[in-house]
Amino acid sequence: MKKISILIPAYNEQEVLEHLYQRIGKLANDNKSYEFEFLFADDGSRDKTLEIIKDYAKKDDRVKYVSLSRNFGKEIGMIAGLDHVTGDATVIIDADLQDPPELIPKMIKFWEEGYDDVYAKRSSREGETWIKIVTANTYYWLLNKMTQGQLIKIPRNTGDFRLLDKRCVEALKQLRESERYTKGMFSWIGYKKKEITYDRDPRAAGEIKQNYRKLINLAIDGITSFSTTPLRISSFIGVIVSAAAFIYLIVVIFKAALFGDTVAGYPSLMAVVLFLGGVQLLSLGVIGEYIGRIFKEVKQRPLYYVEESNVEKPNKKVR
Ligand code: UDP
Ligand code: MG
Repeated sequence: MKKISILIPAYNEQEVLEHLYQRIGKLANDNKSYEFEFLFADDGSRDKTLEIIKDYAKKDDRVKYVSLSRNFGKEIGMIAGLDHVTGDATVIIDADLQDPPELIPKMIKFWEEGYDDVYAKRSSREGETWIKIVTANTYYWLLNKMTQGQLIKIPRNTGDFRLLDKRCVEALKQLRESERYTKGMFSWIGYKKKEITYDRDPRAAGEIKQNYRKLINLAIDGITSFSTTPLRISSFIGVIVSAAAFIYLIVVIFKAALFGDTVAGYPSLMAVVLFLGGVQLLSLGVIGEYIGRIFKEVKQRPLYYVEESNVEKPNKKVR
């Protein structure tokens, strides 16, 4: 019998766990032709999340958990989970039920047809503010423009809700960078992909855990880990500004030579100095972003530490 692992990253999700457990439990009971495993990646929750999960695990041996030593963020939570799953395929699903588990049988069907990565694209975003929708759209547009050189396409309106064949999981486990942008990695590893669409529900209970700060950081990681276009843009701006400055220089010299030096020009001087200062700081910032990433990666730290787990032998790659 083939085994499906359901991987649930969870951080302070005590309000929603019961609903979730019901829904995925029902799903497993309705699909008796597969063996199921529910792996909770508890990302250092400070509420009762872990206790609740351990309660389930006592009664239900399908329930597995790996609990991290602190809150590492969803991206690290996911790789910790992937390191511990044992299924032939793994479905990553949010704990808050924004992704309907009822879609999983459909994913399994496509997996059986030979697809390795069946991802769910949302056709609506119920219960999300228009600001989030507009920023998300602009961001994906920008991201795809910038990653075109890499020949990978990161699908928009697609989260981490997807079914991955074992070989995709193995591939992802080999990517041990610490500043992770998993959404891009799914595309980067390749393999046969299939898109299905669904309506994204509002959160079933509890509060949103990914605040704007986390999302903005993730957005910057997305661009800097998959594209060096910002560096290229700085170079282009540098070339254009230098060329313009050179032309202006010639104009100034000729004017002075032909008509004598009049000491006008304070406004233009200020404008040029300030503009150039701004461009320089911006470029330094862009370079800094990349140096920062290099700094974090060369330390080669483990991605996370496990506080406790009931998975016997995680076949985890130590780098
Ligand atoms: N999550 C996590 N660690 C964090 C933040 C979030 O494991 O530091 C989990 C959270 O429990 C949920 C999923 O990531 O299962 C998505 O989080 P949320 O619903 O808050 O954000 P959304 O993606 O819906 O904006
Ligand atoms: Mg959510």
